[in-house]
Amino acid sequence: MKLYVCEKHTDLAMEKLIDEYETAPLLEKLTENQQLSTACEYCENKPAYLVANIHSSTK
Ligand SMILES: [Zn+2]
Repeated sequence: MKLYVCEKHTDLAMEKLIDEYETAPLLEKLTENQQLSTACEYCENKPAYLVANIHSSTK
Protein backbone atom coordinates (compact mmCIF):
# COMPACT_ATOMS: atom_id res chain seq x y z
CA MET A 1 0.00 0.00 0.00
CA LYS A 2 1.29 3.44 -0.94
CA LEU A 3 -0.11 6.84 -0.10
CA TYR A 4 1.02 10.12 -1.59
CA VAL A 5 0.54 12.92 0.89
CA CYS A 6 1.42 16.57 1.38
CA GLU A 7 3.47 17.70 4.38
CA LYS A 8 0.36 18.39 6.48
CA HIS A 9 -1.02 14.92 6.07
CA THR A 10 1.97 12.66 6.67
CA ASP A 11 0.72 12.00 10.20
CA LEU A 12 -2.69 10.86 8.98
CA ALA A 13 -1.19 8.52 6.43
CA MET A 14 1.27 7.05 8.91
CA GLU A 15 -1.47 6.45 11.45
CA LYS A 16 -3.62 4.77 8.84
CA LEU A 17 -0.85 2.37 7.83
CA ILE A 18 0.12 1.68 11.44
CA ASP A 19 -3.53 0.89 12.21
CA GLU A 20 -3.87 -1.45 9.27
CA TYR A 21 -0.55 -3.24 9.36
CA GLU A 22 0.67 -2.67 12.92
CA THR A 23 4.10 -1.86 11.65
CA ALA A 24 5.98 1.37 11.12
CA PRO A 25 5.57 2.57 7.54
CA LEU A 26 8.29 3.90 5.32
CA LEU A 27 8.26 7.66 4.85
CA GLU A 28 10.03 8.86 1.76
CA LYS A 29 10.40 12.42 0.56
CA LEU A 30 9.39 12.78 -3.06
CA THR A 31 11.65 14.39 -5.59
CA GLU A 32 10.12 16.75 -8.12
CA ASN A 33 10.22 14.01 -10.69
CA GLN A 34 8.15 11.77 -8.47
CA GLN A 35 5.47 14.30 -7.73
CA LEU A 36 3.50 13.17 -10.77
CA SER A 37 0.06 14.56 -11.37
CA THR A 38 -1.35 12.86 -8.29
CA ALA A 39 -2.74 14.93 -5.48
CA CYS A 40 -2.39 14.33 -1.77
CA GLU A 41 -4.54 11.48 -0.48
CA TYR A 42 -6.35 13.83 1.90
CA CYS A 43 -6.47 17.19 0.14
CA GLU A 44 -5.72 18.74 -3.21
CA ASN A 45 -2.17 19.82 -2.55
CA LYS A 46 0.80 18.42 -4.35
CA PRO A 47 2.18 15.41 -2.52
CA ALA A 48 5.50 15.88 -0.75
CA TYR A 49 5.92 12.42 0.73
CA LEU A 50 5.27 8.83 -0.08
CA VAL A 51 4.13 6.72 2.85
CA ALA A 52 4.38 3.03 2.10
CA ASN A 53 3.91 -0.26 3.83
CA ILE A 54 7.27 -1.89 3.28
CA HIS A 55 5.91 -5.37 3.93
CA SER A 56 3.65 -5.46 0.89
CA SER A 57 6.15 -5.21 -1.91
CA THR A 58 3.67 -6.84 -4.27
CA LYS A 59 1.59 -3.65 -4.49
ZN1 LIG B 1 -2.80 16.91 2.16
